[in-house]
Amino acid sequence: FFVTVEGGEGAGKTTVLDQIETELIQRGYEVVRTREPGGIRIAERIRTVILDVTHTEMDSRTEALLYAAARRQHLVEKVIPALKEGKIVLCDRFLDSSLAYQGYARGIGFDEVKAINEFAIEGYLPDLTLFFDVDPQIGLTRIQSDKDREVNRLDQEKLEFHERVRNGYQKVMDVYPERIKVIDANQDVRAVYKDAMTEINQFVGR
Ligand code: C5P
Ligand code: MG
Repeated sequence: FFVTVEGGEGAGKTTVLDQIETELIQRGYEVVRTREPGGIRIAERIRTVILDVTHTEMDSRTEALLYAAARRQHLVEKVIPALKEGKIVLCDRFLDSSLAYQGYARGIGFDEVKAINEFAIEGYLPDLTLFFDVDPQIGLTRIQSDKDREVNRLDQEKLEFHERVRNGYQKVMDVYPERIKVIDANQDVRAVYKDAMTEINQFVGR
């Protein structure tokens, strides 16, 4: 069972994934918790390349290719083997981040970004994707008060960029209406967690 969590900055993906992971382990499932870009050595190194440069330095298509490269290595090295062993894979971001961020927000185009990602993932899609939909203003306020957060160059982007990301996710949902479930991430963490578990429980028995 392959679950991905998506959404803009400050949506609560990491926090709520911690709680979902704890709950599923308590129920006796074997869980692999991971994230994109990253999750394995090669992809963590690509993450550093992408996130450490200034936001004017890297060309958008270069960025999209690096995300796709990190995604492929992570998928073949970590996600697919875990799924074959019958584990639950919980992944912080996947394909839909690229479609929303690079395809829409950076303006490369949905079809272009989808094409390079099809090359990378060869049709391998999550069974369930939770889209944590947060008002960008609320999300940005949350990350400003989060002292543990690793700062990255996306934090330099203006509100308008984050609005485009959100609109991008809405368009991604039109393309994959079955797979993606929307969670109202403007709510407090407890309520977001509860709604997320309701969706997960459709797939894993209690
Ligand atoms: O999920 P996390 O916050 O760790 O992601 C790191 C950064 O990479 C975020 O600022 C996110 O917006 C950005 N990102 C991106 N395009 C992607 C995936 C992540 O710009 N496809
Ligand atoms: Mg996070």
